[in-house]
This record gives sequence, C-alpha cells and structure tokens, in this order.
Amino acid sequence: MDMDFSSQDIAFRNEVRAFLQNNLTDRLRDGARRTPSVFVEPDIGMEWHRILYRQGWVAPHWPKEDGGTGWSPTQKFIFERECALAGAPALSILGLRLVGPVICAFGTPEQKARFLPRILSGDDYWCQGYSEPGSGSDLASLKTSARLEGGDYVINGSKIWTTHAHHADWIFALVRTDATVKKQAGITFLLVPMDQPGISVTPIPSMSGDHEVNAVFFTDARTSAENRIGAEGQGWSIAKFLLENERGGSCYAPRLLQSIGRLEQLAQTQPSGSGGMIGHDPRFRDRLARVRLEAEALEITELRILAELAKGRAPGPQTSLVKLLGSNIGQRIDTLRLELLGPDALQLPLERPLYGNEAPEPVGSEDAQTAMIQYLNNRAATIFGGSDEVQKNIIAKTVLGL
Ligand SMILES: Cc1cc2nc3c(=O)[nH]c(=O)nc-3n(C[C@H](O)[C@H](O)[C@H](O)COP(=O)(O)OP(=O)(O)OC[C@H]3O[C@@H](n4cnc5c(N)ncnc54)[C@H](O)[C@@H]3O)c2cc1C
Repeated sequence: MDMDFSSQDIAFRNEVRAFLQNNLTDRLRDGARRTPSVFVEPDIGMEWHRILYRQGWVAPHWPKEDGGTGWSPTQKFIFERECALAGAPALSILGLRLVGPVICAFGTPEQKARFLPRILSGDDYWCQGYSEPGSGSDLASLKTSARLEGGDYVINGSKIWTTHAHHADWIFALVRTDATVKKQAGITFLLVPMDQPGISVTPIPSMSGDHEVNAVFFTDARTSAENRIGAEGQGWSIAKFLLENERGGSCYAPRLLQSIGRLEQLAQTQPSGSGGMIGHDPRFRDRLARVRLEAEALEITELRILAELAKGRAPGPQTSLVKLLGSNIGQRIDTLRLELLGPDALQLPLERPLYGNEAPEPVGSEDAQTAMIQYLNNRAATIFGGSDEVQKNIIAKTVLGL
C-alpha cells in the first residue's frame, strides 16, 4: 500500500527498523520462518515477547496507563508492518490480545495490579477456556459449572481445543454460575490457576502431527472469588468484547503480504515445466496478483478499525469481516504454495522443532519442508475464533442488517 506518512511517522518507522535490526536475531527469524504450527512455539514467541517488553513495546493495544505504548493508530500499524516484513515471530495473543484487554477494561484496580504486569513481562502464560464439547459456535450453551463455596468458586466440567493449555499458568474460562436464567445471562468470566489437582490437560494431536490444542478437565477445581472479572452473569458481554479483539484486534494483512512476497520470490525459482519459471506464467501471476490486491484491501480495512479503537470505541462487528477475509486469504496463499512446489511439497515431517540445532535437515528446500504442515494446520484458521459461517451470520445481521 502506498501511504503518505508524516515526517514524525517516518522517524518512528526508522526507529522501529533500527530496533529490529539490532534485536531481531537470526535465531528468532529462523524460528519464526520454520514454525509451521498455527501458534508460535513459546520458546521463540516468549523470547521475542521479553525483548519487546524490555523496550516497552510489547502491548501497543493496551491503554497507556496499563502498560501500553500510547502510539497513534498509524504508529501501531507501522510497528506491526515492520515486524512482519522483518520476519519477527508472532506473539501469543492469549495474554496480550485476549485476556489482557479484558482485565484493562473490566478488572478492578487490584486485579489490574496483580495480573497485568505479569502478562506484560511474560511471567504468566495464558490459555483460553471458551469452547466445550457441543458448545463451539453455540458458545452460550456451555455447561462447565462454577458454584461459590466460601471465598472460592468450585468448577466442574471440561473445555476443548484449548490452545497451549499444556504451557499455561492460567486459564480464563467462561463458566455457568446460574442455570435457571436465559443461557447468556448465567455465564461468568473467571481466571483460574492451572497448577492445581482439580485440573488435568490431555493433548489432542492435529492431523499435521503438531501438539497445539488440548482437552482440559475440571474436577472440583478452585479459584478465589477475587479472580472473577466483572459481576456474576456478566461473562457473556465480556466474552463478546474479547472475541471482537480476537477476530480483529491484530493485523492480518502485514503478515499475509509478507507471505505473498515470499511466494512471489519462490515463483521465480520454480520451473514451470514449459521452459521458464512459474513466476512468468500469466495464469499463476494473475492468481498471485488477485491475492495481493485482496490483502492490500484488507490492510486498509484494518487501518480503519485501528482508528476506531484509538477513539476508545470497541472494534465492533467489522472485525468479523477481517477474520473472514484474513483467514481465507491465508488459506489461498497456502494452496498456491503447494501448487508452486508440486511434488516437492508431498512430505510431512513429524520431527519438531524444525529450527535450532536439533532440527532435521530439510528434504529439498525449507519451503518444501514446511508447506504441507502449514497447509494442514491452517485449515483451522477458518474454524477457530468463530467459523466462516458464524462470521457470515454476524456480518449478515449486524453489518448488513439482514
Ligand atoms: C486449532 C484450533 C485452536 C482452537 N483454540 C481454542 C482455544 O484456545 N480456546 C477455545 O475456547 N476454543 C478454541 N478453539 C475452538 C474453536 O473456537 C471452535 O472450534 C469453533 O468455535 C467452532 O466450534 P466447534 O468446533 O464446536 O464446531 P461447531 O460449532 O460444531 O460447528 C460445526 C460446523 O457447523 C457450522 N455451524 C455451526 N453453527 C452454525 C450456524 N448457526 N450457522 C451456520 N453454520 C453453523 C460451523 O461453521 C461448522 O462448519 C480452537 C479450534 C481450533 C481448530
């Protein structure tokens, strides 16, 4: 996208570039590039998280008084874009983008003082306990129950597809505290420590062989009533606030554009079978150009949302548009990569990680080694955080007024 930045914005961009040049190590770049899982591995992601924390740049989307950067929407955009273009690892969204903003918006001063500094520093790793067997799209039907006993909530039930629960110190969970009222009105938002006898975590391996998601079982698990965010029964409004941030709070476009750039380079090196390179084939170039144009259009929508957030407004249902488009463009990039690589991509290495000293030698190029894993893992992008159909329902109702 061609943008006219002010001279202050250009100075800021240069500052970010200089910072990235001095702090983004080859190990981090390599780790980010060769991690084909959906979510960045904690060793790579948290190393980068701590570097940004020391710089004061880890939570650009938080209010300044809670530890945010106080950047303008344009500065946030520049930062995201420069990080993506430089190949920096994506940070885990669970603390910084999901529960962090909830605590900033709905937490008491005591809750803010207790939880926010440890999210910022990376001392606490979080997971998200929303989905349950039978309650995914229809989240409000969730059954995991919590009853107040003395000063504690006692929790029973289970959560499913819980990303990185096996790494987490805390889970933020939606629980049913009242089964007698309308289903949305009986839900409460609790913060629950993971390290306790009442919680067990069982891995769910994905079809690529990665272990990212889990089932989490609560059997008389406990958390102090002081760890309830908002009032009893307010959990549904808080859940919706969080989902809007999950769907649109982060920028998809810069990373999509970075992947498209890499694909364009790859196309220049893959023979077409009829003399030249695939990058010169007009049909392939047409498909690449379409995907680039859509990613650039998405970038403009994301800028508009950032501007809304800067005015103190909730991101709103247009985040569903971003989630829908961003995840679909990402999957088209994965498909184009497989097509470009042809039979070279027909491999599914099961060793992990694919970076660092213990990593297996790639068979063929690095792109060939990771393309299939990435393709398979990224099928989940149009499911998690609300499936495509659910996003379309939201757009139909709240944006189009149908
Ligand atoms: C990799 C991955 C990571 C995840 N991480 C987490 C996590 O950390 N924490 C967490 O809480 N959850 C997580 N999830 C769960 C995710 O949010 C749910 O999978 C998602 O909300 C869909 O719910 P479901 O799987 O129960 O499918 P269902 O709701 O059973 O949907 C099945 C199908 O029916 C369609 N459908 C459902 N309702 C409607 C409707 N009203 N109109 C039209 N079509 C409909 C859906 O689009 C889908 O195609 C993760 C999922 C994946 C795949």
